[in-house]
Amino acid sequence: MQDLNLYNTLTRKKEVFKPIHKNKVGMYVCGPTVYGDAHLGHARPGITFDVVFRYMRHLGYKTRYVRNITDVGHLVNDADEGEDKIAKKALLDQLEPMEVVAHYTRSYHKDMALLNTLPPSIEPTATGHIIEQIQMIEKIITNGYGYEVEGNIYFDVVKYDKDHAYGKLSGRNIEDMISNTRELDGQSDKKNPVDFALWKKASAEHIMRWPSPWSEGFPGWHLECSAMSTKYLGAKFDIHGGGMDLVFPHHEAEIAQSCASDGAEAVNYWMHNNMITINGQKMGKSLGNFITLSEFFSGEHESLEQAYQPMTIRFFILQAHYRSTVDFSNEALQAAEKGMTKLMNALDTLDGIKVDSDSSVNVEDYKNKFYQAINDDFNTPILVAHLFDAVKQINSIAAGKGTLNKTSKEELIQLMSDFCYDILGLQKTVAESQDGLADEVMDVVLGLRKIAKENKDWSTADFIRDELGKLNITVKDSKEGASWAKE
Ligand code: ZN
Repeated sequence: MQDLNLYNTLTRKKEVFKPIHKNKVGMYVCGPTVYGDAHLGHARPGITFDVVFRYMRHLGYKTRYVRNITDVGHLVNDADEGEDKIAKKALLDQLEPMEVVAHYTRSYHKDMALLNTLPPSIEPTATGHIIEQIQMIEKIITNGYGYEVEGNIYFDVVKYDKDHAYGKLSGRNIEDMISNTRELDGQSDKKNPVDFALWKKASAEHIMRWPSPWSEGFPGWHLECSAMSTKYLGAKFDIHGGGMDLVFPHHEAEIAQSCASDGAEAVNYWMHNNMITINGQKMGKSLGNFITLSEFFSGEHESLEQAYQPMTIRFFILQAHYRSTVDFSNEALQAAEKGMTKLMNALDTLDGIKVDSDSSVNVEDYKNKFYQAINDDFNTPILVAHLFDAVKQINSIAAGKGTLNKTSKEELIQLMSDFCYDILGLQKTVAESQDGLADEVMDVVLGLRKIAKENKDWSTADFIRDELGKLNITVKDSKEGASWAKE
Protein backbone atom coordinates (compact mmCIF):
# COMPACT_ATOMS: atom_id res chain seq x y z
CA MET A 1 0.00 0.00 0.00
CA GLN A 2 1.32 3.45 -0.94
CA ASP A 3 1.67 6.22 1.67
CA LEU A 4 -0.70 9.17 1.62
CA ASN A 5 1.24 12.41 1.41
CA LEU A 6 -0.29 15.70 2.52
CA TYR A 7 1.06 19.20 2.07
CA ASN A 8 1.21 20.72 5.54
CA THR A 9 0.88 24.52 5.48
CA LEU A 10 2.68 24.66 8.85
CA THR A 11 5.88 22.92 7.67
CA ARG A 12 5.51 24.04 4.03
CA LYS A 13 6.22 20.54 2.73
CA LYS A 14 4.52 17.27 1.88
CA GLU A 15 4.46 14.82 4.77
CA VAL A 16 3.40 11.20 5.07
CA PHE A 17 0.03 11.09 6.78
CA LYS A 18 0.12 9.20 10.08
CA PRO A 19 -3.05 9.27 12.19
CA ILE A 20 -2.77 9.95 15.92
CA HIS A 21 -5.05 7.02 16.74
CA LYS A 22 -4.72 3.81 14.73
CA ASN A 23 -7.46 3.48 12.07
CA LYS A 24 -9.08 6.77 13.08
CA VAL A 25 -8.98 10.26 11.60
CA GLY A 26 -10.24 13.50 13.17
CA MET A 27 -10.72 16.42 10.77
CA TYR A 28 -12.00 19.93 11.47
CA VAL A 29 -12.89 22.31 8.64
CA CYS A 30 -14.00 25.93 9.01
CA GLY A 31 -17.55 26.17 7.71
CA PRO A 32 -19.54 29.09 6.36
CA THR A 33 -20.66 32.29 8.08
CA VAL A 34 -24.34 31.98 7.25
CA TYR A 35 -25.45 35.43 6.13
CA GLY A 36 -25.82 34.94 2.37
CA ASP A 37 -26.34 32.30 -0.33
CA ALA A 38 -23.39 30.00 -0.94
CA HIS A 39 -21.34 30.96 -4.00
CA LEU A 40 -18.71 29.21 -6.09
CA GLY A 41 -16.06 30.14 -3.51
CA HIS A 42 -17.91 28.00 -0.93
CA ALA A 43 -18.08 25.02 -3.28
CA ARG A 44 -14.28 24.78 -3.28
CA PRO A 45 -13.61 23.91 0.40
CA GLY A 46 -16.90 21.95 0.44
CA ILE A 47 -15.71 19.68 -2.38
CA THR A 48 -12.00 19.64 -1.46
CA PHE A 49 -12.58 18.37 2.06
CA ASP A 50 -15.43 16.12 0.95
CA VAL A 51 -12.85 14.27 -1.19
CA VAL A 52 -10.48 14.09 1.81
CA PHE A 53 -13.35 12.72 3.95
CA ARG A 54 -14.38 10.22 1.25
CA TYR A 55 -10.79 9.06 0.67
CA MET A 56 -10.08 8.57 4.37
CA ARG A 57 -13.19 6.42 4.60
CA HIS A 58 -12.18 4.55 1.43
CA LEU A 59 -8.83 3.77 3.10
CA GLY A 60 -10.77 2.29 6.00
CA TYR A 61 -10.28 5.05 8.57
CA LYS A 62 -13.13 5.67 10.94
CA THR A 63 -13.33 9.39 10.22
CA ARG A 64 -14.96 12.11 12.29
CA TYR A 65 -15.42 15.19 10.13
CA VAL A 66 -16.44 18.32 12.06
CA ARG A 67 -17.44 21.43 10.11
CA ASN A 68 -18.87 24.38 12.00
CA ILE A 69 -21.55 26.90 11.19
CA THR A 70 -20.51 30.43 12.20
CA ASP A 71 -23.68 32.09 13.43
CA VAL A 72 -22.22 34.80 15.67
CA GLY A 73 -19.03 36.77 16.25
CA HIS A 74 -17.80 37.12 12.67
CA LEU A 75 -17.54 40.89 12.30
CA VAL A 76 -17.56 42.86 9.07
CA ASN A 77 -14.04 43.08 7.53
CA ASP A 78 -13.04 40.04 9.64
CA ALA A 79 -11.94 42.49 12.34
CA ASP A 80 -12.46 43.01 16.08
CA GLU A 81 -14.46 46.21 15.61
CA GLY A 82 -17.61 46.75 13.62
CA GLU A 83 -20.91 45.01 13.12
CA ASP A 84 -21.63 41.30 13.30
CA LYS A 85 -22.12 40.04 9.72
CA ILE A 86 -25.29 38.19 10.67
CA ALA A 87 -26.78 40.93 12.83
CA LYS A 88 -26.13 43.44 10.03
CA LYS A 89 -27.95 41.25 7.51
CA ALA A 90 -30.80 40.75 10.04
CA LEU A 91 -31.20 44.51 10.43
CA LEU A 92 -31.21 45.06 6.68
CA ASP A 93 -33.84 42.36 6.15
CA GLN A 94 -35.78 43.16 9.36
CA LEU A 95 -35.39 39.60 10.61
CA GLU A 96 -34.30 37.96 13.83
CA PRO A 97 -30.60 36.97 13.53
CA MET A 98 -31.63 33.34 13.99
CA GLU A 99 -34.03 33.64 11.03
CA VAL A 100 -31.08 34.70 8.90
CA VAL A 101 -29.02 31.81 10.28
CA ALA A 102 -31.77 29.21 9.73
CA HIS A 103 -32.51 30.40 6.20
CA TYR A 104 -28.91 30.43 4.96
CA THR A 105 -27.95 27.23 6.79
CA ARG A 106 -30.77 25.44 4.93
CA SER A 107 -29.77 26.91 1.58
CA TYR A 108 -26.10 25.98 2.22
CA HIS A 109 -27.11 22.39 3.02
CA LYS A 110 -29.23 22.20 -0.13
CA ASP A 111 -26.39 23.44 -2.39
CA MET A 112 -23.84 21.15 -0.74
CA ALA A 113 -26.19 18.16 -1.20
CA LEU A 114 -26.66 19.03 -4.90
CA LEU A 115 -22.85 19.05 -5.23
CA ASN A 116 -22.96 15.55 -3.71
CA THR A 117 -20.82 16.45 -0.69
CA LEU A 118 -21.44 14.15 2.25
CA PRO A 119 -22.76 15.81 5.41
CA PRO A 120 -20.06 16.18 8.08
CA SER A 121 -20.22 13.87 11.11
CA ILE A 122 -20.88 16.85 13.41
CA GLU A 123 -21.90 20.38 12.40
CA PRO A 124 -21.64 22.50 15.57
CA THR A 125 -22.75 26.13 15.76
CA ALA A 126 -20.90 28.92 17.55
CA THR A 127 -24.02 30.00 19.45
CA GLY A 128 -24.49 26.43 20.70
CA HIS A 129 -21.03 26.47 22.31
CA ILE A 130 -20.86 29.75 24.25
CA ILE A 131 -20.12 27.93 27.53
CA GLU A 132 -17.16 26.04 26.02
CA GLN A 133 -15.82 29.31 24.60
CA ILE A 134 -16.12 31.07 27.99
CA GLN A 135 -14.30 28.14 29.65
CA MET A 136 -11.49 28.38 27.10
CA ILE A 137 -11.14 32.13 27.70
CA GLU A 138 -10.91 31.46 31.46
CA LYS A 139 -8.04 29.01 30.86
CA ILE A 140 -6.25 31.52 28.62
CA ILE A 141 -6.61 34.26 31.27
CA THR A 142 -5.42 31.89 34.04
CA ASN A 143 -2.34 31.01 31.98
CA GLY A 144 -1.56 34.72 31.61
CA TYR A 145 -2.34 35.25 27.93
CA GLY A 146 -5.65 37.08 28.17
CA TYR A 147 -6.49 40.47 29.71
CA GLU A 148 -9.63 42.47 30.36
CA VAL A 149 -10.39 46.03 29.36
CA GLU A 150 -13.88 47.21 30.41
CA GLY A 151 -15.65 43.93 29.78
CA ASN A 152 -13.64 43.04 26.66
CA ILE A 153 -11.11 40.22 26.77
CA TYR A 154 -8.14 40.35 24.44
CA PHE A 155 -5.48 37.81 23.62
CA ASP A 156 -2.02 39.13 24.55
CA VAL A 157 -0.17 38.36 21.30
CA VAL A 158 3.05 40.11 22.32
CA LYS A 159 3.39 38.09 25.53
CA TYR A 160 2.45 34.89 23.69
CA ASP A 161 5.03 35.60 20.98
CA LYS A 162 7.82 35.76 23.57
CA ASP A 163 6.94 32.23 24.80
CA HIS A 164 5.70 30.45 21.67
CA ALA A 165 6.46 32.48 18.49
CA TYR A 166 3.29 33.89 16.94
CA GLY A 167 3.02 33.76 13.14
CA LYS A 168 4.52 30.33 12.38
CA LEU A 169 1.61 29.21 10.16
CA SER A 170 1.48 32.31 7.97
CA GLY A 171 5.22 32.98 8.13
CA ARG A 172 4.73 36.50 9.49
CA ASN A 173 6.77 38.07 12.22
CA ILE A 174 5.32 40.17 14.96
CA GLU A 175 7.30 43.36 14.20
CA ASP A 176 5.81 43.49 10.69
CA MET A 177 2.34 42.77 12.05
CA ILE A 178 2.63 45.59 14.58
CA SER A 179 3.80 48.12 12.01
CA ASN A 180 1.06 47.05 9.57
CA THR A 181 -1.85 47.20 12.00
CA ARG A 182 -1.14 50.30 14.10
CA GLU A 183 -2.48 52.79 11.59
CA LEU A 184 -5.83 51.03 11.12
CA ASP A 185 -6.61 50.41 14.73
CA GLY A 186 -5.85 53.68 16.50
CA GLN A 187 -9.12 53.82 18.44
CA SER A 188 -8.82 50.42 20.06
CA ASP A 189 -8.55 49.77 23.80
CA LYS A 190 -6.11 46.92 23.21
CA LYS A 191 -2.62 46.94 24.77
CA ASN A 192 -1.26 46.27 21.33
CA PRO A 193 -2.92 46.49 17.87
CA VAL A 194 -1.99 42.87 17.04
CA ASP A 195 -3.98 41.55 20.02
CA PHE A 196 -7.30 39.99 19.04
CA ALA A 197 -10.64 39.77 20.82
CA LEU A 198 -11.65 36.64 22.74
CA TRP A 199 -14.79 38.27 24.16
CA LYS A 200 -16.49 41.53 23.21
CA LYS A 201 -18.83 43.49 25.42
CA ALA A 202 -22.07 44.07 23.52
CA SER A 203 -23.08 47.66 22.84
CA ALA A 204 -26.65 48.68 23.70
CA GLU A 205 -27.99 48.02 20.17
CA HIS A 206 -26.23 44.66 19.78
CA ILE A 207 -28.90 41.92 19.67
CA MET A 208 -26.78 38.76 19.97
CA ARG A 209 -25.45 38.70 23.55
CA TRP A 210 -24.77 36.25 26.36
CA PRO A 211 -23.83 36.64 30.03
CA SER A 212 -20.20 35.97 30.95
CA PRO A 213 -17.92 36.63 33.97
CA TRP A 214 -16.73 39.84 32.26
CA SER A 215 -19.72 41.43 30.52
CA GLU A 216 -22.84 40.69 28.60
CA GLY A 217 -21.41 40.15 25.16
CA PHE A 218 -20.33 37.67 22.48
CA PRO A 219 -17.26 35.57 21.64
CA GLY A 220 -14.54 36.49 19.14
CA TRP A 221 -14.68 34.77 15.77
CA HIS A 222 -11.39 32.82 16.11
CA LEU A 223 -12.38 31.27 19.41
CA GLU A 224 -15.32 29.15 18.26
CA CYS A 225 -13.18 26.88 16.07
CA SER A 226 -10.65 26.26 18.86
CA ALA A 227 -13.40 25.52 21.38
CA MET A 228 -15.47 23.26 19.11
CA SER A 229 -12.55 21.33 17.56
CA THR A 230 -11.23 20.56 21.06
CA LYS A 231 -14.66 19.52 22.26
CA TYR A 232 -15.33 17.04 19.46
CA LEU A 233 -11.85 15.92 18.38
CA GLY A 234 -9.77 16.30 21.53
CA ALA A 235 -6.84 18.55 22.44
CA LYS A 236 -4.81 16.91 19.66
CA PHE A 237 -6.28 15.94 16.29
CA ASP A 238 -5.14 15.05 12.78
CA ILE A 239 -6.29 17.53 10.13
CA HIS A 240 -7.53 21.12 10.18
CA GLY A 241 -8.76 22.46 6.86
CA GLY A 242 -10.06 25.67 5.40
CA GLY A 243 -9.49 28.24 2.69
CA MET A 244 -6.07 29.88 2.29
CA ASP A 245 -7.67 33.22 3.16
CA LEU A 246 -8.16 31.86 6.71
CA VAL A 247 -4.45 31.20 7.38
CA PHE A 248 -4.05 34.68 8.85
CA PRO A 249 -5.38 35.77 11.22
CA HIS A 250 -8.01 33.07 11.85
CA HIS A 251 -5.88 29.91 11.94
CA GLU A 252 -2.85 31.67 13.37
CA ALA A 253 -5.10 32.78 16.23
CA GLU A 254 -6.43 29.22 16.65
CA ILE A 255 -2.89 27.87 17.12
CA ALA A 256 -2.18 30.57 19.71
CA GLN A 257 -5.45 29.90 21.57
CA SER A 258 -4.73 26.14 21.79
CA CYS A 259 -1.18 26.66 23.02
CA ALA A 260 -2.28 29.34 25.47
CA SER A 261 -5.08 27.22 26.96
CA ASP A 262 -3.74 23.64 26.69
CA GLY A 263 0.01 24.25 26.42
CA ALA A 264 0.33 22.49 23.07
CA GLU A 265 -0.70 22.83 19.45
CA ALA A 266 -3.87 20.95 18.56
CA VAL A 267 -3.35 20.20 14.87
CA ASN A 268 -0.94 17.81 13.10
CA TYR A 269 -1.69 18.70 9.46
CA TRP A 270 -2.97 22.07 8.25
CA MET A 271 -4.56 21.84 4.79
CA HIS A 272 -5.67 24.92 2.85
CA ASN A 273 -7.54 25.15 -0.43
CA ASN A 274 -6.78 28.00 -2.79
CA MET A 275 -9.32 30.55 -4.03
CA ILE A 276 -11.67 30.72 -6.99
CA THR A 277 -10.92 33.80 -9.01
CA ILE A 278 -13.04 35.77 -11.43
CA ASN A 279 -11.08 37.99 -13.83
CA GLY A 280 -8.04 37.26 -11.70
CA GLN A 281 -9.59 38.50 -8.43
CA LYS A 282 -10.74 36.35 -5.50
CA MET A 283 -14.48 35.62 -5.66
CA GLY A 284 -16.01 36.66 -2.36
CA LYS A 285 -19.13 38.07 -0.81
CA SER A 286 -17.26 40.92 0.81
CA LEU A 287 -15.83 41.82 -2.63
CA GLY A 288 -19.26 41.72 -4.28
CA ASN A 289 -18.03 39.79 -7.35
CA PHE A 290 -19.52 36.41 -6.59
CA ILE A 291 -21.93 34.17 -8.49
CA THR A 292 -24.11 32.05 -6.19
CA LEU A 293 -24.38 28.30 -6.69
CA SER A 294 -28.11 28.52 -7.34
CA GLU A 295 -27.39 31.09 -10.09
CA PHE A 296 -24.98 28.57 -11.66
CA PHE A 297 -27.64 25.85 -11.46
CA SER A 298 -30.31 28.08 -13.06
CA GLY A 299 -28.05 30.02 -15.43
CA GLU A 300 -29.63 33.25 -14.22
CA HIS A 301 -26.69 35.63 -13.96
CA GLU A 302 -25.39 38.12 -16.50
CA SER A 303 -21.94 36.48 -16.52
CA LEU A 304 -23.32 33.02 -17.32
CA GLU A 305 -23.95 31.82 -20.86
CA GLN A 306 -26.01 28.83 -19.72
CA ALA A 307 -27.10 26.82 -16.67
CA TYR A 308 -24.55 24.38 -15.26
CA GLN A 309 -25.32 21.07 -13.59
CA PRO A 310 -23.95 20.70 -10.03
CA MET A 311 -21.78 17.83 -11.28
CA THR A 312 -20.22 20.11 -13.89
CA ILE A 313 -19.24 22.49 -11.07
CA ARG A 314 -17.86 19.58 -9.04
CA PHE A 315 -15.86 18.21 -11.98
CA PHE A 316 -14.61 21.73 -12.82
CA ILE A 317 -13.25 22.14 -9.29
CA LEU A 318 -11.68 18.67 -9.24
CA GLN A 319 -9.88 19.35 -12.54
CA ALA A 320 -7.59 21.72 -10.61
CA HIS A 321 -5.34 20.83 -7.70
CA TYR A 322 -6.86 22.17 -4.49
CA ARG A 323 -3.79 24.33 -3.77
CA SER A 324 -3.95 26.07 -7.18
CA THR A 325 -6.25 28.93 -8.02
CA VAL A 326 -9.17 28.22 -10.35
CA ASP A 327 -10.30 30.99 -12.65
CA PHE A 328 -13.99 30.97 -13.50
CA SER A 329 -14.98 31.23 -17.15
CA ASN A 330 -17.87 29.91 -19.24
CA GLU A 331 -15.38 28.20 -21.59
CA ALA A 332 -13.76 26.32 -18.70
CA LEU A 333 -17.15 25.21 -17.36
CA GLN A 334 -18.31 24.10 -20.81
CA ALA A 335 -15.11 22.09 -21.22
CA ALA A 336 -15.77 20.51 -17.81
CA GLU A 337 -19.32 19.66 -18.89
CA LYS A 338 -18.02 17.87 -22.01
CA GLY A 339 -15.34 16.05 -20.02
CA MET A 340 -17.82 14.93 -17.38
CA THR A 341 -20.24 13.58 -20.03
CA LYS A 342 -17.43 11.75 -21.81
CA LEU A 343 -16.34 10.12 -18.55
CA MET A 344 -19.85 9.04 -17.57
CA ASN A 345 -20.56 7.72 -21.10
CA ALA A 346 -17.37 5.64 -20.98
CA LEU A 347 -18.58 4.01 -17.75
CA ASP A 348 -21.77 2.98 -19.57
CA THR A 349 -19.73 1.79 -22.56
CA LEU A 350 -17.56 -0.29 -20.23
CA ASP A 351 -20.64 -2.01 -18.81
CA GLY A 352 -21.73 -3.01 -22.31
CA ILE A 353 -18.39 -4.35 -23.61
CA LYS A 354 -18.56 -8.02 -24.61
CA VAL A 355 -15.86 -10.02 -22.85
CA ASP A 356 -13.18 -11.94 -24.69
CA SER A 357 -10.89 -14.75 -23.58
CA ASP A 358 -7.89 -12.47 -23.37
CA SER A 359 -7.40 -8.89 -22.32
CA SER A 360 -5.35 -5.96 -23.63
CA VAL A 361 -6.03 -3.92 -20.47
CA ASN A 362 -3.57 -3.75 -17.56
CA VAL A 363 -5.96 -2.92 -14.70
CA GLU A 364 -3.17 -3.12 -12.10
CA ASP A 365 -1.27 -0.39 -13.91
CA TYR A 366 -4.30 1.93 -13.85
CA LYS A 367 -4.85 1.13 -10.19
CA ASN A 368 -1.27 2.09 -9.29
CA LYS A 369 -1.49 5.33 -11.23
CA PHE A 370 -4.86 6.32 -9.74
CA TYR A 371 -3.65 5.72 -6.18
CA GLN A 372 -0.32 7.45 -6.86
CA ALA A 373 -2.15 10.58 -7.98
CA ILE A 374 -4.57 10.79 -5.06
CA ASN A 375 -1.85 9.86 -2.55
CA ASP A 376 0.27 12.73 -3.84
CA ASP A 377 -1.51 15.42 -1.81
CA PHE A 378 -4.87 14.74 -3.48
CA ASN A 379 -3.65 15.48 -6.99
CA THR A 380 -7.07 15.24 -8.63
CA PRO A 381 -6.05 16.81 -12.00
CA ILE A 382 -3.46 14.04 -12.51
CA LEU A 383 -6.03 11.48 -11.37
CA VAL A 384 -8.56 12.84 -13.88
CA ALA A 385 -5.92 12.63 -16.64
CA HIS A 386 -5.34 8.95 -15.78
CA LEU A 387 -9.10 8.32 -15.74
CA PHE A 388 -9.23 9.71 -19.28
CA ASP A 389 -6.44 7.33 -20.35
CA ALA A 390 -8.77 4.54 -19.23
CA VAL A 391 -11.70 6.23 -21.02
CA LYS A 392 -9.70 6.27 -24.24
CA GLN A 393 -8.89 2.58 -23.95
CA ILE A 394 -12.48 1.65 -23.04
CA ASN A 395 -13.77 3.49 -26.11
CA SER A 396 -11.26 1.90 -28.44
CA ILE A 397 -12.09 -1.59 -27.14
CA ALA A 398 -15.77 -0.82 -27.75
CA ALA A 399 -14.78 0.18 -31.30
CA GLY A 400 -13.14 -3.23 -31.81
CA LYS A 401 -9.53 -2.24 -31.09
CA GLY A 402 -8.46 -4.37 -28.12
CA THR A 403 -10.06 -6.93 -25.84
CA LEU A 404 -11.24 -7.30 -22.25
CA ASN A 405 -11.68 -10.59 -20.39
CA LYS A 406 -14.23 -11.23 -17.67
CA THR A 407 -11.90 -10.70 -14.66
CA SER A 408 -10.32 -7.55 -16.11
CA LYS A 409 -13.72 -6.14 -16.94
CA GLU A 410 -15.02 -6.71 -13.41
CA GLU A 411 -11.84 -5.24 -11.90
CA LEU A 412 -11.91 -2.22 -14.19
CA ILE A 413 -15.60 -1.54 -13.44
CA GLN A 414 -14.83 -1.73 -9.69
CA LEU A 415 -11.77 0.53 -9.99
CA MET A 416 -13.51 3.16 -12.13
CA SER A 417 -16.52 3.18 -9.84
CA ASP A 418 -14.35 3.46 -6.68
CA PHE A 419 -12.53 6.49 -8.04
CA CYS A 420 -15.30 8.26 -9.98
CA TYR A 421 -18.20 7.73 -7.57
CA ASP A 422 -16.87 6.87 -4.10
CA ILE A 423 -13.71 8.99 -3.96
CA LEU A 424 -14.28 11.90 -6.36
CA GLY A 425 -17.99 11.87 -5.49
CA LEU A 426 -19.17 12.30 -9.08
CA GLN A 427 -22.63 11.08 -9.98
CA LYS A 428 -24.67 10.83 -13.13
CA THR A 429 -26.73 13.94 -13.66
CA VAL A 430 -30.34 14.00 -14.74
CA ALA A 431 -29.37 14.79 -18.32
CA GLU A 432 -26.91 11.93 -18.48
CA SER A 433 -29.28 9.42 -16.98
CA GLN A 434 -31.63 10.24 -19.88
CA ASP A 435 -28.95 8.56 -21.97
CA GLY A 436 -30.73 5.39 -20.89
CA LEU A 437 -33.72 6.59 -22.87
CA ALA A 438 -31.45 7.62 -25.74
CA ASP A 439 -30.07 4.06 -25.75
CA GLU A 440 -33.55 2.60 -26.10
CA VAL A 441 -34.54 5.01 -28.87
CA MET A 442 -31.27 4.34 -30.69
CA ASP A 443 -31.89 0.59 -30.46
CA VAL A 444 -35.16 1.18 -32.33
CA VAL A 445 -33.48 3.41 -34.95
CA LEU A 446 -30.61 0.99 -35.54
CA GLY A 447 -33.14 -1.87 -35.65
CA LEU A 448 -34.97 -0.09 -38.49
CA ARG A 449 -31.68 0.39 -40.33
CA LYS A 450 -30.91 -3.32 -39.93
CA ILE A 451 -34.30 -4.26 -41.41
CA ALA A 452 -33.73 -1.80 -44.28
CA LYS A 453 -30.34 -3.37 -45.02
CA GLU A 454 -31.75 -6.91 -44.85
CA ASN A 455 -34.35 -5.77 -47.43
CA LYS A 456 -31.54 -4.25 -49.49
CA ASP A 457 -33.29 -0.90 -49.03
CA TRP A 458 -29.96 0.98 -49.19
CA SER A 459 -31.47 4.43 -49.59
CA THR A 460 -33.36 4.11 -46.23
CA ALA A 461 -30.27 2.66 -44.48
CA ASP A 462 -28.06 5.49 -45.80
CA PHE A 463 -30.71 8.10 -44.93
CA ILE A 464 -30.70 6.94 -41.27
CA ARG A 465 -26.90 6.93 -41.12
CA ASP A 466 -26.59 10.40 -42.75
CA GLU A 467 -29.29 12.02 -40.62
CA LEU A 468 -27.68 10.66 -37.44
CA GLY A 469 -24.36 12.00 -38.74
CA LYS A 470 -25.86 15.50 -38.83
CA LEU A 471 -26.56 15.09 -35.09
CA ASN A 472 -22.89 14.12 -34.59
CA ILE A 473 -23.93 10.52 -33.96
CA THR A 474 -21.69 8.04 -35.74
CA VAL A 475 -22.86 4.52 -36.51
CA LYS A 476 -20.26 1.76 -36.60
CA ASP A 477 -20.90 -1.65 -38.11
CA SER A 478 -19.13 -4.71 -36.77
CA LYS A 479 -19.60 -8.49 -36.57
CA GLU A 480 -21.80 -8.08 -33.47
CA GLY A 481 -24.05 -5.54 -35.21
CA ALA A 482 -24.19 -1.78 -35.32
CA SER A 483 -23.21 0.49 -32.43
CA TRP A 484 -23.36 4.25 -32.06
CA ALA A 485 -21.48 7.04 -30.37
CA LYS A 486 -22.11 10.75 -29.98
CA GLU A 487 -19.10 12.99 -30.59
ZN1 ZN B 1 -12.61 28.49 11.77
